[in-house]
Amino acid sequence: MWKYQALLISLASSVAFGAVDMSQFPSKTDPTNINIPNIPQTTSNDVATECQYYQSNFTIEKSEWPTIWGLATSNNMNTSAEFTALYNSIDWTKAPQAPIRSLTPQGGLNLVGYDTVNDPDCWWSATQCKKPKSPDTNGDIATCPQPETWGLTFDDGPNCSHNAFYDYLETNKQRASMFYIGSNVLNWPYGALRGLKDGHHLCGHTWSHKMMTTLTNQEVLAELYYTAKAIKFVTGVTPLHWRPALGDLDDRVRWIATQLNMTAILWNLDTDDWAANSTPGITPETVNQRYLDFIKMGSNGTFAESGNIVLSHEINNMTMDFFVNHYPAIKQNYKHVVDVATCQNIANPYLEKVITFPSFDASETQNASTVTGSGVVPGATGSSNSGNTINNYNGPLFIAALFGLLMVAV
Ligand SMILES: [Zn+2]
Repeated sequence: MWKYQALLISLASSVAFGAVDMSQFPSKTDPTNINIPNIPQTTSNDVATECQYYQSNFTIEKSEWPTIWGLATSNNMNTSAEFTALYNSIDWTKAPQAPIRSLTPQGGLNLVGYDTVNDPDCWWSATQCKKPKSPDTNGDIATCPQPETWGLTFDDGPNCSHNAFYDYLETNKQRASMFYIGSNVLNWPYGALRGLKDGHHLCGHTWSHKMMTTLTNQEVLAELYYTAKAIKFVTGVTPLHWRPALGDLDDRVRWIATQLNMTAILWNLDTDDWAANSTPGITPETVNQRYLDFIKMGSNGTFAESGNIVLSHEINNMTMDFFVNHYPAIKQNYKHVVDVATCQNIANPYLEKVITFPSFDASETQNASTVTGSGVVPGATGSSNSGNTINNYNGPLFIAALFGLLMVAV
């Protein structure tokens, strides 16, 4: 009986379809045939040398983009014809009316006065709510459903020349979900190209990394829109997934993302790797201990019924090294280490259907039987038939079914 109820719920909660057509974003990149120009690459893990400036061959017309690291409405984007048309294509009378939040003097979110018991806005920062209370709003993905599975995610790239890190992942045939900041994509386009070429799951991570619930509707829309546009401009694909900085989203933000066909991916384990040596009380030992604790959970029964999604960061050598140092133990203690598109059986994580991801089962069977070779497995490798890799399988409905089961089971 409960399974039947779950199915009904899952059908009702299938991913909402957005109002905005983003298929017309300009791009000169063929995502099935990525060529990365030869630039001086760093292969060292030394902090002092890992980041080298390079001049890319992308021509970025400054008047068409927000200021790098400024709010995405900056540089007059909010009054541009393009953005005005986008904004006016959305029926804002249907937008959830959650208030715009404020920051404390210390820069944190001001949660004072919010009704955390009833949680009317499904505000993740306050309650970790992930299932929207507003209609026609995409719910968040926050875990990999398969037992003993580590959902691998890296935030805040691309950055400089992180080739040693991408080489390491490629050598291990390891894909991850990469949450790219729009400003970084324009600053470091070859990093984004490398991510797509290697078959990683590219997602947006906003333009300027602000707390999303503190922004106006217009600012939220611009942060999501220009990030997706930057990823498309550079790589040729438009992401359908994103992650808010510090996980800060509520139903108002979710609903705006839904207008762009986007679904948020959060996490249920946080390494705090970025904070080591910069946040009081968090040292490299703290982060290493987090990793050790999370690794133990793979074999001590914690994830016997379902998996996780772990938040880690690309940012710099310190954060990348934490992962690299612990990766062998992660592989030993978990049956599966996968990107989120794969564990959620999302065959088409981009608007462009030319790139497909294998199902979880197909991916893991393939991985298990692959012994040698430097390439990675998904359809994003530029092989001539990658555009024809079509699964018979209905990704969104299956995802919805998983949501439904989780909602009932939890
Ligand atoms: Zn971030």
